[in-house]
Amino acid sequence: MTQRLRGRVAAITGGASGIGEATVRRFHTEGASVVIADIQAEAGRRLADELGDRAVFVRTDVSEEADVAALVDTAVDRFGQLDIMVNNAGIMGALGPIDATRMSDADLTIAVNLRGVICGMKHAARVMKPRRSGVIISTSSPAGVLGGIGPHIYSAVKAGIIGLSNSVAAELRQHGIRVNTIIPGSVVSPMTAGIVVDDAHNLAGAQEVLGRTALLGRPIQPADVAAGILYLASDDAAFVTGAVLPVDAGLTGASWPSP
Ligand code: NAD
Repeated sequence: MTQRLRGRVAAITGGASGIGEATVRRFHTEGASVVIADIQAEAGRRLADELGDRAVFVRTDVSEEADVAALVDTAVDRFGQLDIMVNNAGIMGALGPIDATRMSDADLTIAVNLRGVICGMKHAARVMKPRRSGVIISTSSPAGVLGGIGPHIYSAVKAGIIGLSNSVAAELRQHGIRVNTIIPGSVVSPMTAGIVVDDAHNLAGAQEVLGRTALLGRPIQPADVAAGILYLASDDAAFVTGAVLPVDAGLTGASWPSP
């Protein structure tokens, strides 16, 4: 394994589980110091302890600006800088038909999935701009691009992340900061397992999506998405900004059904 992130410092939200955890592990293997941010304190601490050197857990609710500010400050205090911010924490949020939407559920979905990314970008930019260097990567979803494959509010905020990311990319390139979006395909994680268990309507959708993404021969794993995030974070992507990278076996880009 090359050390593509040797000497870099990365903060990863939602880092205690699923895609975030896989990203934490891959970044650490590639030589980065990692700041694991999550509301799941026990799992986050356990992961930091397992990785040992160059890993710290910071209990963070991304919808709380003070938490995200403290996360970024911890990266700087502990490791001297913040090179890579991965805004990955997310929840599925409100399920069901639009006319049954509970506004409190909608507000929570927006707060975690979109406000959380805004907070991450704001505070990462605060410390990256003076150094004229940095990378910000945020996790969207195929549901932000295609209708009918995710819950309504989730789809709306995941589309919002792409617009936000492209807009911030245009601003921050003059400061030497790259800003990109990753689109994971359907990955089996605690989040998607939740759909299968909780909601019969979405179960059919989830199976349909999994059927499509298995087209490349096997289901997508969190580590496959982490590899895409690593690419965007690394110097191999030195001229990649304002980009949206799908790691989705062609779900958003390829036609279906195949010829
Ligand atoms: P996951 O549930 O395994 O991980 C999400 C993590 O975010 C959890 O550790 C959770 O504790 C954390 N989190 C939730 N609310 C938080 C908050 N307020 N503050 C901080 N942390 C919080 O799910 P995952 O599949 O790894 O999802 C990671 C990201 O990928 C999410 O943004 C999700 O929307 C996106 N995504 C997932 C899939 C998929 O198929 N799994 C597909 C497309 C996009």
